[in-house]
Amino acid sequence: MSTTWHILGAGSLGTLWATRLARAGVPVRLILRDEARLASYQAAKGLTLVEQGVEHTYPVIGETPDCPEPIHRLLVACKAYDAQSAVAQLHARLVPDADLILLQNGLGSQDAVAAQLPQARCIFASSTEGAFRDGDWRVVFAGHGYTWLGDVGHPTPPLWLDDLHAAGIPHAWSTEILTRLWRKLALNCAINPLTVLYQCRNGGLQDHQCEVATLCAELTELLEWCGQPAAAEQLHSEVERVIQATAANYSSMYQDVNNGRRTEISYLLGYACEAAARHQLTLPHLLQVQARLVEHLRAHGLASD
Ligand code: NAP
Repeated sequence: MSTTWHILGAGSLGTLWATRLARAGVPVRLILRDEARLASYQAAKGLTLVEQGVEHTYPVIGETPDCPEPIHRLLVACKAYDAQSAVAQLHARLVPDADLILLQNGLGSQDAVAAQLPQARCIFASSTEGAFRDGDWRVVFAGHGYTWLGDVGHPTPPLWLDDLHAAGIPHAWSTEILTRLWRKLALNCAINPLTVLYQCRNGGLQDHQCEVATLCAELTELLEWCGQPAAAEQLHSEVERVIQATAANYSSMYQDVNNGRRTEISYLLGYACEAAARHQLTLPHLLQVQARLVEHLRAHGLASD
């Protein structure tokens, strides 16, 4: 019997992973916040995945954080701002050499989790898959993509990648996972905050080309100072390409703000601004966008961290 995958966070990505692993016969357990969420989940009789309009419900076993069973492998599928406290609840259950797979966007939450568990193996992931919830315990698989996984301390891939293969989760092991996460963070910083400030789709930034170019120049400088020259290469042209290719889409930050949800700003633009301060870099446009975004979030009654 292969090792059980404990999935922390039954939201969009957690459900996308849990259902595909369960479908492949891999043992999976969902860790829900508390008894009330567990009761709600049990009433729904499983997780529903909607793929190309066809839905299927998987009766994955649910449990609360205080279940006594030890955890050997944990997929952390919470938002970046919840990851550290959600993992902290499981300290007593995690075996010392547990593997954690961290799906969080941006940077900062991965190091915070790893610092709590010095003996565990923390694998960072960066995914281009897309999913959203269209109801409690229901997730729509909206965009096929790819997930890169890597361990900054150990270049050897774990054997359990076979489970991902069996589950049909497109993935690759990357020895440059930090470069990927930095690159994604920089693309996000150049596009998402401006779509919130200008209340537009990604394509709307074609009317703000100068501002985008200035931000890209500052982000390129930041990446180089942070020892990430590969993540800085041709950043501006890729940002322009993404704006064009996703012109009709609303960015994830735009969607969060418009739905009154907390954003992951501290792990994206906030992380970039803190890194700039650490290196005593003067990046006025980046700082100004952050200040405008914080003001915008506060004006909409949303958390600005
Ligand atoms: P999500 O739909 O909001 O799901 C997060 C889940 O975490 C929620 O179900 C929430 O529970 C749960 N949670 C939070 N704290 C918990 C705790 N202490 N114990 C148990 N469960 C807890 O988020 P998501 O969209 O899947 O995003 C997860 C991460 O993946 C983010 O960093 C995001 O940026 C990244 N990402 C997402 C996508 C995507 O397409 N969705 C793509 C790429 C990357 P409740 O349901 O009880 O609130």
